[in-house]
Amino acid sequence: MQQQKPKSNGIAVLILIIVMMLLGFSMLRDGGYSVKDLITDIVAGFIVFGFFLLIVVILRKFSSNNSNLQNIQNQAQIQMEEIDKDFIIEPQTSDVTFKQVAGIQEVKEELVEIVDFLQNPEKYKRFGIKLPKGVLLVGPPGVGKTLIAKAVAGEAGVPFFYQSGATFVQMFVGVGAKRVRSLFNKAKQNAPAIIFIDEIDAIGKARGGMRNDEREATLNQLLTEMDGFEKSEGVIVIAATNKVDLLDDALLRAGRFDRRIYVELPTLNDREEILNIYLKDKPFKGDVKEIAKMTVGFSGAALASLVNEASIYALNRGKGVIGIDDFVAVKDKVLVGKKKILSYTEQEKKILSYYQSAKAVTAYWLEVDFEKMSLVKDDFKEIDRELVSKSEIEAKIQVYLSGIICVEDIFKEKFSNATNDIQKAKELANKMINEYGMGDRIIATEMEVLQVLETAIQSAKLLYTSQKEVILKVQKKLLEQEIITKEEIKEIRNEIL
Ligand code: ADP
Repeated sequence: MQQQKPKSNGIAVLILIIVMMLLGFSMLRDGGYSVKDLITDIVAGFIVFGFFLLIVVILRKFSSNNSNLQNIQNQAQIQMEEIDKDFIIEPQTSDVTFKQVAGIQEVKEELVEIVDFLQNPEKYKRFGIKLPKGVLLVGPPGVGKTLIAKAVAGEAGVPFFYQSGATFVQMFVGVGAKRVRSLFNKAKQNAPAIIFIDEIDAIGKARGGMRNDEREATLNQLLTEMDGFEKSEGVIVIAATNKVDLLDDALLRAGRFDRRIYVELPTLNDREEILNIYLKDKPFKGDVKEIAKMTVGFSGAALASLVNEASIYALNRGKGVIGIDDFVAVKDKVLVGKKKILSYTEQEKKILSYYQSAKAVTAYWLEVDFEKMSLVKDDFKEIDRELVSKSEIEAKIQVYLSGIICVEDIFKEKFSNATNDIQKAKELANKMINEYGMGDRIIATEMEVLQVLETAIQSAKLLYTSQKEVILKVQKKLLEQEIITKEEIKEIRNEIL
C-alpha cells in the first residue's frame, strides 16, 4: 500500500499540471480556440511535462545514489569500529633476558648492538650511525624468535609491542592499515620501543597473482610507516617469518627489513643448553646429553614441552625423580602433537650424515657457496636473482645429486630423503635449457634436459670416487656434531691431502 501512494500522487500532479498548462495556453491565444489548437496544446503540454519529469527523475536518482553511498560508508565505519573494538594495543614489559634464551649464540650477538642502540641512542646519533629499522628473524616455528625479540626488549628495558601478522589481515579494506597506523603511533609515543610482528608473511606476501585489496592496503601502510621512521628514532621493528622467499621485495629493501637473521633448529649443544634451562629446578637424574642426542629436529618449544610431558609422566608413576626413561616414554607423544617436528633413529641419522657430507664436500670442491651443512638442511643460495653461468648451474646440479650417489655406494640402497634434491636438480636442468637457453639447440627438447642430468650424474660419480676419503671423514664429524662448517671441511681436506 505504501508504495502505491507516491504513484497516485504523481498521477494527480500530472493531471493538474496538464490542465493548468492547457488553461495557460488557451489564455495566451488571441482569437478563437480551435480543435487543432487544443491538440497542439496537449502535445506541447506533454513535451513540457516530460521534460519536467525527466529532471525530477534524474535529481531523485542522484540523491538516492548519494544516500546509498553514504549508507554503505556509514555501515562500513560501524563494522570497522565493531571489528576493532577488541583490538587494543598495549605495550608489554618484558623481563626476558638473553640468559633465558639458550643456544643460538650468533643470533644473540647480532642483536646485542640493537640493545645498545635502544639504551644509548645518542651515542649512535653523534656518530651519524644508522641502525636498521627492521630486523627479520627467519626460521621454523618454535625456535625462539618471539623469545629472542622479547629478550631484546627485556635487556634494553623498553616496551614490547606484540602483534601477529594475521590480526592485520581482515575482511574489510582499511582495517589492517588502520591497525598498523595505531600500532606505530602507540610505539612512537612510547619510544624507545620494540614492535614485534609475528608471521609477517600474512601481510607481506609478494604482491601479484590474486589481488587482495585489504592485504595490499595493509602492506602499503606498513611500508609507509617504516619509511617515515627517520624522525622517530628509537622504534625498532622485529618481524618473524618462516617463509622469507614469499615476502614482497619492497619489505626487504634498504631502510625496511634490511637485516635478516636466520634462527635455525637447535644443534646438539643448543639442545643440551635448552634442556638444562627447563630441567634446572626439576628433580632430574641422568645425562642431559643423552636426551639432546635423541631429539634431533626438535625445536626449543618442542624441548620445553618434552620436559613438561616427561615430568608429568614421572609424577603420574609416583616417581621421586625424572629419568631418561620418562623422556623416552613421552618422546613420541610430543612428536605426534607436533607433527612438523622431525626425529630420527640412529640409522636414519647415519644415512643422512653420509648423504649431506657428500653434498658438502662436492659443494666445497666445485665452489658452490655455502656456510654450513647440517644433518637435515643445506644453506645453498637460490640462483634466481644473480647472473649465473652455465658451469655454476651444472656444479649445483652435481651437488644436489651427490648425496644419492654416496648413499647408494655405502648402503647399496636408495632412500626417500632425496626427493627435494632431485626436484631441485631437475628444476635447474630445466631452467638451464628452457629458460636460460644454455643448450645446444635454440628450440630445446626434453632430451637435452635429460642429457644435462645424465652428464651431471656421471661427473658427480667421478668426483665422489676421488673425494670418498674426505667425505667419510666429514661424515663422522657431521654425525657427531649434527652440523659442519665449510671451514671444518677445509681443515679435513687439508689434513688428508
Ligand atoms: P617462535 O617465535 O620461533 O615460533 P617462540 O619464541 O614462541 O618460537 O618459542 C616458544 C617457546 O619455546 C618459548 O617461549 C620457550 O619456552 C621455548 N624456546 C624456544 N627456543 C628456545 C631457546 N633457544 N631457549 C629457551 N627456550 C626456548
